[in-house]
Amino acid sequence: MSDSISPEPPLLAKELSELRLPTVAASWKQAAEEAGKRGVPYAEFLAELVHHEIVDRHDRRVNRRVKEAKFPSLKTLDTFDFDRQPGLTREKLLELARGDFVTRHENIVLLGEIGTGKTHLASAIGFACCQRGFRVRFMTAADLTTLLIESKSVDRLSRKLDQLARYDLVILDELGYVPFDRAGADLLFTFITRVYEQRSLIVTTNLPFPRWSEVFQDATAAAAVIDRVVHHSTILQTEGKSYRLEAAEAVQLAANESAATPS
Ligand code: ADP
Ligand code: MG
Repeated sequence: MSDSISPEPPLLAKELSELRLPTVAASWKQAAEEAGKRGVPYAEFLAELVHHEIVDRHDRRVNRRVKEAKFPSLKTLDTFDFDRQPGLTREKLLELARGDFVTRHENIVLLGEIGTGKTHLASAIGFACCQRGFRVRFMTAADLTTLLIESKSVDRLSRKLDQLARYDLVILDELGYVPFDRAGADLLFTFITRVYEQRSLIVTTNLPFPRWSEVFQDATAAAAVIDRVVHHSTILQTEGKSYRLEAAEAVQLAANESAATPS
């Protein structure tokens, strides 16, 4: 390649934009200059530019997926302390984070007391699934039910269900924290039936299965939901004391100790 690069080809910017190659559009000039200086062969120059576009495209897609998922906060398995959860192994969670359960349209149920890391783990698996290119949506069970009730009231329930069914994975957080009325429970059941064996769910709950009838107001409805959610699912139980509570207690203890120590 020669040292001097020719003037910008008149159609290049427009055509790169038409081909949706923003990284090539943004970087070809500088890359061409450097390639010229270093005498990089044409084929190598082209391969590098294309590779750069591919890497950026992957990043852009992951960012879109993560944004669309609406996680309450970004959590990863790296920041999860498995020593606190002897019943869960890092290997098992890493396997789930690979997302094969989504490909197989299977579910995950995270059962455990409040503050034991259910939302953290559900978000971390969801985030990993975004990185694999899956479409994910995080919502509380109460928010989903409200959304469905609102959609029904304006005669758009089936459109909303279609929209939700486009996600590969829906994370239903906090099932059981708020009881539903009959209409809400029916709509949640309609949603679960709609995605059953077509899509994946991660459900987090503090309620053991025998108590799901309290949420669904009715043992038959609860049994039908449990049947669909639990069929083809991995059930993970979190244990122990609330992490939040323990952290707050540790802060309090440290404060008490420093107050008790004469300076
Ligand atoms: P849950 O959904 O079970 O109520 P969360 O996942 O919201 O609990 O956990 C409460 C807080 O404690 C979060 O900030 C979470 O990141 C943190 N947490 C809980 N368990 C762990 C753990 N084993 N390792 C690291 N952080 C944890
Ligand atoms: Mg939670």
